[in-house]
Amino acid sequence: MESDGDGMDCNELREHYELYVKGGAEEPARSEIDAHLGRGCEICTQGIGRAREAAARRGSGEQRRFGWAPFLAAALALALFAAVYFGGRERDLANELARVREQNSRQNVELTRVNEAFGILTGGDAVVTAFGEGASTPKGKVFVSASQGVLLIAGNLPPAPSGKAYEMWIVTGGKAKAAGMFQSAADGGAMHMQRGAMGNSDAVAVTLENEAGVDAPTSTPLFAAPIRGLVR
Ligand SMILES: [Zn+2]
Repeated sequence: MESDGDGMDCNELREHYELYVKGGAEEPARSEIDAHLGRGCEICTQGIGRAREAAARRGSGEQRRFGWAPFLAAALALALFAAVYFGGRERDLANELARVREQNSRQNVELTRVNEAFGILTGGDAVVTAFGEGASTPKGKVFVSASQGVLLIAGNLPPAPSGKAYEMWIVTGGKAKAAGMFQSAADGGAMHMQRGAMGNSDAVAVTLENEAGVDAPTSTPLFAAPIRGLVR
């Protein structure tokens, strides 16, 4: 048994191991466990190891029982990531993402989509540009990963008129390359993604076009977000 006088000893820490591996241990137990592990305490190292194994077993058990668990985990992680990114007054965008997720939760194709979006967000090389500040203009964020592609999340984008759709463009050296068509939801929320390496792109823009799509923009962009600081 190890004790350093005024700190907690291993016996007192034992009941906190499970919460510790889940990241939920409270102070001072968390710091005490850190300290014990830091000085190579055998009892705590073994105890934490067992708690990790138990948590991993429970995790895989739950996945077997619920086929949708991996999807839910990815979707929740994405929603959490979005909430962190958007924060306060842009929380509506995170809510929009959560709504899209919920709406499509029964479709396997959406699992791929969420995972791809998550890949862009967490690619490690993603840069983010906010666009649109006015109350009635489209606003949102563009996440650009040099290796993964572009993820656009927009709000205040009115549903396109019949026969029309929004088209995303990746602008490089003054030239716009088509990057897919998308629609916005009834409440003005939209999420669109273009996968692939980004090259030396300067901006991401969106125009309103015929729903079949066009090869070059025929109207003034509704918004354009410059891409800055991209790690290439
Ligand atoms: Zn210990």
